[in-house]
Amino acid sequence: MKTIHHFVNGETRLAGSGRSSPVFDPATGEQTAEVGLASAAEVDEAVAAAAGAFQEWRHTSLAARTRLMFAFRSLVEANSDEIARRLTAEHGKVGLDARGEVARGLENIEYACGLGELLKGSHSSRASSGVDVHSVRQPLGVVAGITPFNFPAMVPLWMFPNAVACGNTFVLKPSERDPSAPRLVVELFHEAGFPPGVLNLVNGDKAAVDRLIAHPDVKAVSFVGSTPVARYVYEAGTAAGKRVQALGGAKNHMVVLPDADIDLAADAAVSAAYGSAGERCMAVSVVVAVGDAGDRIVDAVRVRMDKLAVGPGTDPSSDMGPLITSEHRDRVAGYVGAGASEGAAVVVDGREQSFDGGGFFLGASLLDHVTPDMSVYRDEIFGPVLCVVRAGAYREAVELIEANPWGNGAAIFTRDGGAARQFQEDADAGMVGVNVPIPVPVGCHSFGGWKQSLFGDAHMYGPEGIRFYTKAKVVTSRWPDPASSRVDLGFPQNR
Ligand code: NAD
Repeated sequence: MKTIHHFVNGETRLAGSGRSSPVFDPATGEQTAEVGLASAAEVDEAVAAAAGAFQEWRHTSLAARTRLMFAFRSLVEANSDEIARRLTAEHGKVGLDARGEVARGLENIEYACGLGELLKGSHSSRASSGVDVHSVRQPLGVVAGITPFNFPAMVPLWMFPNAVACGNTFVLKPSERDPSAPRLVVELFHEAGFPPGVLNLVNGDKAAVDRLIAHPDVKAVSFVGSTPVARYVYEAGTAAGKRVQALGGAKNHMVVLPDADIDLAADAAVSAAYGSAGERCMAVSVVVAVGDAGDRIVDAVRVRMDKLAVGPGTDPSSDMGPLITSEHRDRVAGYVGAGASEGAAVVVDGREQSFDGGGFFLGASLLDHVTPDMSVYRDEIFGPVLCVVRAGAYREAVELIEANPWGNGAAIFTRDGGAARQFQEDADAGMVGVNVPIPVPVGCHSFGGWKQSLFGDAHMYGPEGIRFYTKAKVVTSRWPDPASSRVDLGFPQNR
């Protein structure tokens, strides 16, 4: 059985804790590898490598950093098929989703390529007599990134290109479920020419995370994952004096107004609810159908679901792949049963679809007449289950979003510009879509939800990423008035 090891100080470090975790091909259910789980001592070694590389890296010129970042970008693009292949092999997502993930990750490298512009600071000349003031942003030191299974290549790329561009060094702890894609991305980073120790990778579980958030040399932690772990990492990390941004789970609502283009809305709902088998933090999990949009959107989604091909991600005809583990598949299936017994109408029951072999497949489900007290509405399911809540009026839809404990994304489908404009203001969520179901910001804006979807005050990547990975310094300097200078500056007094 192949073992996936750590990558520290520019080379493979054999995992030596004696603990490991299985890695599966979710489409077959077979174990394909095992991944070593780091001990605290192995984490310490990675942090020491990052700390050792910091002083030289922070003083590396912006021009040199930029050249390396461009080289990294080219290598990721050149290897995007292999990264995508690894995503499909261990996560299960279909080829289109896997290639989309790499493309969205590339955007963040491209943003970091502009580091000269991003880090140039600001200057006030003659703030007072003989006094100039300028602001600079300096790196923090060693930064840790802890990432989830659902975007194993993209989410690390949300973090380390910007962190490293700012002059920090980095320790990445990717999800232990699908470690091969992040591993390749880290190898490409070194192939691009970045010095050893600037980016290190330790595989692991809670033990590695606990050591990273307690380690005195780790100055900041970027986390993406489920809400309970995000809260824990935020509380423990900030208590240990670190800067922490911790992005959590979601329950994203898509409001469909009666005047919406129902075909457009139904296409969007199907791809946003069932794409990547619903394992996206920006997946649409609730459609709020306003007024007479209800029956029309439910019918239009149901019709489209008949054509949804569920199968291995390696098959180009598959629209939706398997779930990440058999336990997760069973948990998601359990929600469909719970919804039915709590009174929801099961329009399409994904449990009825059967699959050959041992893959972790589950068909897509559609539940109508869901109410906020049902577990299918209250919990983040993170699977291919779409709930429809009926609302009498626009205001009810807004109140549902407001009352929801998560606030990652929210979308509205309408042909009415005034309604869309009002929704942008009313929606109690960090990212809003207008006729766009999954409003993930492009790399030059920042990604982040509100409420229990984010702990901390910095969103991820884009301008807020640069702010998070740097500390501000303001320099106020006074020089004698040029007229009194000892050097001849051409003033009569100098002579
Ligand atoms: P998870 O919280 O189980 O794991 C995330 C990371 O934390 C992994 O690296 C894991 O090894 C580590 N971890 C797990 N349990 C831990 C514990 N008890 N203590 C310390 N560390 C622990 O999340 P997941 O299942 O890998 O990913 C799915 C979740 O991530 C969903 O809730 C999804 O909504 C969320 N997510 C959020 C965003 C966002 O941007 N807000 C993006 C992607 C995924």
